[in-house]
Amino acid sequence: MKDLQQAADNYLCPTYARYPLAVKSALGCTLYDLDGKEYLDLLSGISVCNLGHSHPEVVSAIASQAGKLIHVSNLFYQEEQVDLAKKLINTCSMNKVFFCNSGAEANEGAIKLTRRYMRKVLQQDRFEIITLSGSFHGRTLATLTATGQDKIKDGFDPLPPGFKIVPHNDAHALEQAVNEHTAAIMLEIIQGEGGIRIIDARYMEKVVQLCARHDLLLIVDEIQTGMGRTGMFWAHQHYQLNPDIITSAKALANGLPMGAVLCTDKTARAFDQGSHGTTFGGSPLACAAALKVLEIMEREGTVYRADRLGREFMAIMEGIRLNHPEKIKEVRGKGLMLGIELSFPGKNIWQALLNKGFVLNLTQETVLRLLPPLIISMEDINRFCVCLDSLLNDSTLCRN
Ligand SMILES: *Cc1c(COP(=O)(O)O)cnc(C)c1O
Repeated sequence: MKDLQQAADNYLCPTYARYPLAVKSALGCTLYDLDGKEYLDLLSGISVCNLGHSHPEVVSAIASQAGKLIHVSNLFYQEEQVDLAKKLINTCSMNKVFFCNSGAEANEGAIKLTRRYMRKVLQQDRFEIITLSGSFHGRTLATLTATGQDKIKDGFDPLPPGFKIVPHNDAHALEQAVNEHTAAIMLEIIQGEGGIRIIDARYMEKVVQLCARHDLLLIVDEIQTGMGRTGMFWAHQHYQLNPDIITSAKALANGLPMGAVLCTDKTARAFDQGSHGTTFGGSPLACAAALKVLEIMEREGTVYRADRLGREFMAIMEGIRLNHPEKIKEVRGKGLMLGIELSFPGKNIWQALLNKGFVLNLTQETVLRLLPPLIISMEDINRFCVCLDSLLNDSTLCRN
């Protein structure tokens, strides 16, 4: 472990604050370190391996596709792309798909689609995209500009123009921000990196109203919340909502890099021949993995399961909060996307949980973020809850 850490310091750009854990292999909800020690994965590689690690059917779909066709480029028709697009469209009210390779690239695509729709289809001088404070939309120049967190932008100016950030869940501020150049509102239904912050139903109504009144596009970033994570296939389906564009990535291919921009026929007209593209996007390999993911989810009722287990998990956590009212401020989330907001910086608790074999994420310093594989068992959830409950009795862990 020490050698690996040293080599990483020597050869990798130091962009990540890594956990003191080297993962050698993983299966289902279990991670194994270099010494074979087991960890319960409550993070799924940041909501990517939603069906668990090395799901045997996904592994075999990838292996058999790899032996048939890995990549040929978008100069050619490929069955896997069309099959996947058809299946994805059936999960929502979108009509068309553009495949890419990551979340940032999907959001970049959504931003480009919005601008081009205004320029070429409506022929209007509207380009500004309104996003929310605390949001996270990616690390490319455009998507980090759209992101509502200053630390992500530090040192990268000049940033591209055309973005405006307004306070989260503040309907008045949103209304004030709309002007004749506004093209779209882009938001996460539940902010992931931002600390599991849920959008208010009333606020959402206002968003819908404003979009209708000013003919704005609504872009929903479902990169973290999609693919069943919140107990609906897409998190926006918890609300009465007809987005124009949905972006997806993370869990789409259960670990292979893949992103998608889903859009309506109306907006899709703006992406005509030659207007956008990517070499790797929608490779048969990634598509085969994603097709298998959708097949498994449908067969196993994964989305319903996430809803059911999420409710139980939340109820248990509420009980634990009542045991420690001065230590847990709030428990929030939907489905298997949970945030436990502590009333103190959570580094020590997070470290203690890791030592006990529970892998999760600490975000915004005080929020324990849980994104377990959707196949997790109630026994494993209980095991985590019991451990957290007992650690919260140790007051030395509950301070800086
Ligand atoms: C992770 C994430 C992104 C960025 O995805 P990358 O694949 O890391 O580029 C964008 N939006 C949201 C909501 C995310 O959670």
